[in-house]
Amino acid sequence: MPSSLFDNHGRPINYLRLAVTDRCNLRCFYCMPEEGINYLPKKELLTFEEIERLVRLLAGMGISKVRLTGGEPFLRTDLMKLIERIVAIDGIRDLHLTTNGLLTLPHIPELKRLGIASVNLSLDTLDKDRFKSITRRDEFEKTWKAFEQLMAYGIPVKINAVVMENKNAEDLIPLAALTRHFPVSVRFIEEMPFNGEGSHYPQLKWTHVEIVRHLKQAFPDLQREVDPEHSTAYHYRIPGAKGSIGVIAAFTRTFCGTCNRIRITAQGELKTCLYDDGVLNIKTLMRDGLSDDDLKLHLQNAFSARPKDGFEAERSRSKGTPINESMSTIGG
Ligand code: SAM
Repeated sequence: MPSSLFDNHGRPINYLRLAVTDRCNLRCFYCMPEEGINYLPKKELLTFEEIERLVRLLAGMGISKVRLTGGEPFLRTDLMKLIERIVAIDGIRDLHLTTNGLLTLPHIPELKRLGIASVNLSLDTLDKDRFKSITRRDEFEKTWKAFEQLMAYGIPVKINAVVMENKNAEDLIPLAALTRHFPVSVRFIEEMPFNGEGSHYPQLKWTHVEIVRHLKQAFPDLQREVDPEHSTAYHYRIPGAKGSIGVIAAFTRTFCGTCNRIRITAQGELKTCLYDDGVLNIKTLMRDGLSDDDLKLHLQNAFSARPKDGFEAERSRSKGTPINESMSTIGG
C-alpha cells in the first residue's frame, strides 16, 4: 500500500518503531553498561491508552507498519494486550516485534493467533559462553528455544547479530550457515555508538564491506539478491539455502536515501532519524491535553524538517551532546 505521508525530501514515511520500555533483562555490552542504569519511572512511559491514540493518529496519516521494541518488550506488563490493541487499529497492516527471546516462548501461540508479521530475535552468537560474555547473562538456551519454537509455528524470523571484533567475529559463518537449514533471515549489523556509555565511538573494523568480504571467503558462491524497497539491508543467499542473509550498514549509513521510518522512544520522544536526539516530545504534548488535530500538526511539522541523512542528524543534535544514549531507550 503506498504511503500518503512524505517527508521534506520526498521520502514516504510508513514505518513506526516504538519502544514500549527501556528496561532489559540482558546487559549486551554494545547497548548498555552493566550497572548504574537509571531506568525511567513507570509514569514516564507512554501508557497503553497514549500508545493506542498515537498509533491510531499515525495510521490515519499514513503509517501502516509498526514494530514494538525496547528495552525488552516482554518486560512491559501485559504486552500481549497492547499487541492485540494495535493489530486492531485500522490501517495497521503489519505488526512486528524485536526481542531477545528470553520471555517469548509462552506467548508464541498467541503471537501466531494475532497474526504477528515477523519477530526479530537478537542473537549475536551460537556459542553459550560467548553469549554470556556479550550479554552478561547466561541465557543462551532461552533465546535458542524461542527461535526453534518460532520456526515451528511458521512465524517469520530475522536474527539480528551485531558484529564485533574480539567478541563474535568467529560466529559470522555459523550464523550465516543457519540459513541453509532454517527459513530465517540472518542479519549482520555494524556496531553503532549507542551503548549508553557516553561518547565512545567504536573503531569499526566490521563494516558492511568487511562483513561481506568475510562471508564470501567461506561461501564463494554467495548470491546477491534484490533488496526489498526501503530495506536497510543488503541481501544475499547461499545457493540452495532456505533462508537469506542481510548486511546492515547501520554505522556507515548507506541507506538513508530511502529511509521510511520514524521512532518513538520509551519516554515518548519522536525521532525522525536514529541519529537525532529527539525532535518532539509527544508525551508532554499529549499530557498537556493537545487535540488530535494539533498533535497531527506538530507531527507533520517534524516530518517536514527531517534531516537528509544520519550524518546531518548527528551534526544537528539539538541538545548539543554527542551520541551517548543506550539503544534500549531509543528502541533498536
Ligand atoms: N531487547 C530487544 C532485543 O534484544 O532484541 C529489543 C531492543 S534491542 C536495543 C534492539 C536491537 O538493537 C538488537 O537487535 C540489538 O542488537 C540492536 N543494538 C543495540 N545496541 C546496538 C549497537 N550499539 N549497535 C548496533 N545494534 C545495536
